[in-house]
Amino acid sequence: MYDVAIVGAGVIGLSIAYELARHGRQVVVLERGAPGREASWAGAGIIPPANPRTAIHAYDQLRGWSFQLHGEWAERLRVETGVDNGFRRCGGLYLARTAGEAAALAGFAEQLSVEQVRWESVRDRLAEIAPELRGSETRFRYVLFLSDEAQLRNPRHLQALQAACAARGVDWLTGQPVEQIEVQSGRIVGLRTASGGAVAEQYCFAGGAWTGQLLRGLGYGLGILPIRGQMLLYRVDPAAVTRIINEGPRYIVPRDDGHVLVGSTEEEVGFDKSNTSEGIGELTRFAEELVPALSRDRLIRSWAGLRPASFDGLPYIGRLPDHENGFVAAGHFRSGLYLSPGTAVMMRQLMLGQPSALDLAVFRVGRG
Ligand SMILES: Cc1cc2nc3c(=O)[nH]c(=O)nc-3n(C[C@H](O)[C@H](O)[C@H](O)COP(=O)(O)OP(=O)(O)OC[C@H]3O[C@@H](n4cnc5c(N)ncnc54)[C@H](O)[C@@H]3O)c2cc1C
Repeated sequence: MYDVAIVGAGVIGLSIAYELARHGRQVVVLERGAPGREASWAGAGIIPPANPRTAIHAYDQLRGWSFQLHGEWAERLRVETGVDNGFRRCGGLYLARTAGEAAALAGFAEQLSVEQVRWESVRDRLAEIAPELRGSETRFRYVLFLSDEAQLRNPRHLQALQAACAARGVDWLTGQPVEQIEVQSGRIVGLRTASGGAVAEQYCFAGGAWTGQLLRGLGYGLGILPIRGQMLLYRVDPAAVTRIINEGPRYIVPRDDGHVLVGSTEEEVGFDKSNTSEGIGELTRFAEELVPALSRDRLIRSWAGLRPASFDGLPYIGRLPDHENGFVAAGHFRSGLYLSPGTAVMMRQLMLGQPSALDLAVFRVGRG
């Protein structure tokens, strides 16, 4: 008998397991495949700055809070496991080419109390802030430079979380999906896999894009959809790209060893994780147009992952309304790595009956 059983060992499930184990809970994590190999592995690891003090909406508070926690978690995980998760404040640029992109950027700039500037006025300073863009012929309307924008290397972060969980006695049941959730009198009493399962006091479902399927048997229609994102990996001289460059849904993310990630597409194609020639073509053109050093011969690998998208873009973080010992943390769409520490702390507060730092109402299951 465990205190808590968590379904799904992506960044959300692992972060919650770590946070609960740190607070003395006996935790077991059930994972269909190997831990941390789905969306959380596939992502880019961009951590945009956000300010919890100026945020009004609970989602923006969660962003601001998570941004603060990432620095603390990176340091704590490094001390506990010896793994450097690659958390760096490398700075990022946001570029707006179209009027729509300029409007979205204006809103983002206002939230952060920074100013977006006209592209013409920044061109002379490119040598200083983003020399990689100097060869770009593209004309942008506006640019936002955020010196605080950060990144982490998600495979390393997942490795650190797993090691930290193991050191705190978290158990694993991997290689088999949870096929059945057993219920008696409104309480969950067990999870079944093909060859066993787990029994716990509380259950948390963090199955990423698969969470809707998982909870359908209990009568919940969460409406979580898989949205495919394709990703490219380049290898260049480490000085060739220094900042994260964002334009609309696409971005370029330099690691500090010369690896550069370029993403990403947004495709509704079910649970298909293949790369396509269209997706790769779109991303290679985007990369080379912005940063000529990212030529096609520097491309070394591609992959795709399935983001868990909810119907209104907000994650589900809360209790299952008809099952008092059931909880869900899923649907973080494009921001699951970013929001993972805040989500884990909120979930720990909720599951342990502690006062919540945020109003969870907007994240509840069954919202309209
Ligand atoms: C290309 C791409 C780029 C991205 N870039 C970023 C980024 O820069 N920043 C950011 O914050 N986010 C980014 N994201 C989004 C982020 O990766 C996701 O929001 C996040 O990984 C979701 O984490 P998760 O733990 O909910 O899901 P997952 O990582 O998918 O984990 C869910 C786990 O549940 C398991 N599971 C499902 N069903 C069962 C079952 N029945 N039994 C047992 N186990 C089960 C799965 O096998 C899986 O391991 C990106 C995503 C993609 C695809």
